[in-house]
Amino acid sequence: MNFVEHYQSKIFDSLSIGLIVVNANEEILLWNTWLEKHSGITSENALGQKIGDIFPVAPSAAFLSALRNSMSYGLPAVLSNALHRSPLPLFSIDESFKNQLAIHQSITITPLVSEQAGHTCLIQVTDSSTSIRREKMLRSHSEVLKKDATTDSLTGLYNRRFFDEHYKISLGQAIRQKHPLSVFMVDIDYFKQYNDYYGHPAGDKVLVQVAAALKSQLSRSSDMLARYGGEEFVLILPNMSDEHGMDFAKKLIAAVNQLALPHLKSKSNKIISISIGFSTYDPNQHREVSTLIDAADTALYKAKQQGRNQACFMPLDTLLSHRLQIHAD
Ligand code: GH3
Ligand code: MG
Ligand code: MG
Repeated sequence: MNFVEHYQSKIFDSLSIGLIVVNANEEILLWNTWLEKHSGITSENALGQKIGDIFPVAPSAAFLSALRNSMSYGLPAVLSNALHRSPLPLFSIDESFKNQLAIHQSITITPLVSEQAGHTCLIQVTDSSTSIRREKMLRSHSEVLKKDATTDSLTGLYNRRFFDEHYKISLGQAIRQKHPLSVFMVDIDYFKQYNDYYGHPAGDKVLVQVAAALKSQLSRSSDMLARYGGEEFVLILPNMSDEHGMDFAKKLIAAVNQLALPHLKSKSNKIISISIGFSTYDPNQHREVSTLIDAADTALYKAKQQGRNQACFMPLDTLLSHRLQIHAD
């Protein structure tokens, strides 16, 4: 007896994959220990039985037809776990020994021809549950990381980093599709005094509530709101006309006023309020776009100077002529 003959059954039974051999009548000729463990059917009970009848629940139709095709045409077949999760009713026990978990399987069917047994097929079953679980875990882990990288942890809004990326993309789209793009800079009024008087944790709560109030005013999926930094927020809205811009800014201001959060140290009002500066780039009108954020910022400065709790619009051209004038002086 050579080495292989001697160890054959030991090797089969030590494998951590399932091995089945069936003959042309689909009767089982080999059923290894791995299968005993995961089907609850002993080799003694399995041998000689038809593979379609042996399980309490029948194997999937896809499995049976793959086996029959393999047997008739002598061609190998593969059932990948992506399409067929559990072709055979096999289970593993979870770590707590409480639950039976269906094993997700990858199955390969290989035709074998032997003089003794005629046409047979070798069926190899591997457990892909672990790799599927690992893949799922990695996927959800990377989604969390991606979210962390783009989200502001206090307010749940997009962060500055996401804004910078999104701004570039939105500008590119506006130029290509020839539609206007508006930027709104929002800043909470007298927020330093709020923190000094009510404390930093109370200030954080205000930031969260203001963020939610601003967010509630967005309606289109193309609109974007981010925390720009500190107590400043930024919005990008494609396709908005100048007149609509002012209406929209007023809606944002009203939404924050409606929160009616007391701010006794505010000089403009006794509640938390915001000031807004905005500007619009229209590719059909303007050649220069690099000043859009500057223009919105300058408009915000003006809104602050004019008394806060209000919005100010700065056309892009005005900012340019403003600058040219400074250079000329
Ligand atoms: P203005 O009306 O001109 O905008 O005055 P302001 O006091 O709001 O502006 P200033 O820039 O002087 O102060 C901003 C304050 O925002 C200072 C800082 O303590 C506060 N702040 C920035 N980030 C946070 C934060 O994450 N949490 C809290 N609680 N406060 C913050
Ligand atoms: Mg500020
Ligand atoms: Mg402020």
